[in-house]
Amino acid sequence: MGLFLFLMIEFEIYSPIEEITLPVFEQHKVRVFLKRDDMIHPFISGNKWRKLKYNLIKAQQQDKNHLITFGGAWSNHLLATACAAARFGFKSTAFVRGEDLNNEALFLCRTFGMKMIFTDRESYRDKHILFKRYFGNDDSAYFIDEGGAGEEAALGCSEIISELTDTYDHIFVAAGTGTTAAGIINGVYNQQRQTKVQVVSVLKGDFLGEEIQKLGPLPDQFSLHTDYHFGGYAKTKPELLEFIQMFASSTGILLDPVYTGKMMFALTDLISKSEFPAGTRILAIHTGGIFALLGMKEKFNF
Ligand SMILES: *Cc1c(COP(=O)(O)O)cnc(C)c1O
Repeated sequence: MGLFLFLMIEFEIYSPIEEITLPVFEQHKVRVFLKRDDMIHPFISGNKWRKLKYNLIKAQQQDKNHLITFGGAWSNHLLATACAAARFGFKSTAFVRGEDLNNEALFLCRTFGMKMIFTDRESYRDKHILFKRYFGNDDSAYFIDEGGAGEEAALGCSEIISELTDTYDHIFVAAGTGTTAAGIINGVYNQQRQTKVQVVSVLKGDFLGEEIQKLGPLPDQFSLHTDYHFGGYAKTKPELLEFIQMFASSTGILLDPVYTGKMMFALTDLISKSEFPAGTRILAIHTGGIFALLGMKEKFNF
């Protein structure tokens, strides 16, 4: 120990809750609030900070100063990890799926000092083998799964619920791996809140319930929406892009096409189909990650 200076893995969380007033919400007399986790930090954004927090604390406790992680070329998780590593005194290396390239997201990662190992899709599949092959003999290396998934991540996400001072009938959240949703469900369950958790899957299929269950019990007040993937992960349709554009121009808040755009679309669609009675209070979680929008700019019809 001696001269080691530990940086506290923590910063003041700024994630206010704002009411969103679109005409369709007013017509159905449903109140919609948005928890602005996107405002936690410009780069260590949204759920990616929540998912990293206990991973970083664990790495520090184990005296490991080199974060090794995984992601695609537009991964919000890579950007968050690169910036968090720089901020809290770690080195960082990422296995990036696919060919060597330098898009806006990877450019920012490199600027924060992250090293990249581009990996073909075949070898990318087994992350533990990759880690072992490159860092098996490196005592300073700490493995963080793609997207930050795992128990530490769910614990960090459950803190979204501890921060709530008001009550809501429903909480809406987008799900990729389902870790964030699992954390929120655990938080709701542990605090014995009556809130229903409405999980919007951004991928095709209905396996997310099982994934979420690996990280804690699935209470009754949980619903999974599987009709809002728009063709699959990172796939879009003109309808979704138009919605994102309408939402941004009416509220001043950006959504991304991969996660929060699909979640807010689902929420708005369900309200417009009168799924919720007048007086219902809904909290949506803005899980951040708006950089993904830049990767899709050609798809917009401007
Ligand atoms: C990664 C990400 C998610 C998905 O979180 P999971 O815990 O994998 O379900 C949701 N929203 C945004 C903006 C993300 O970047």
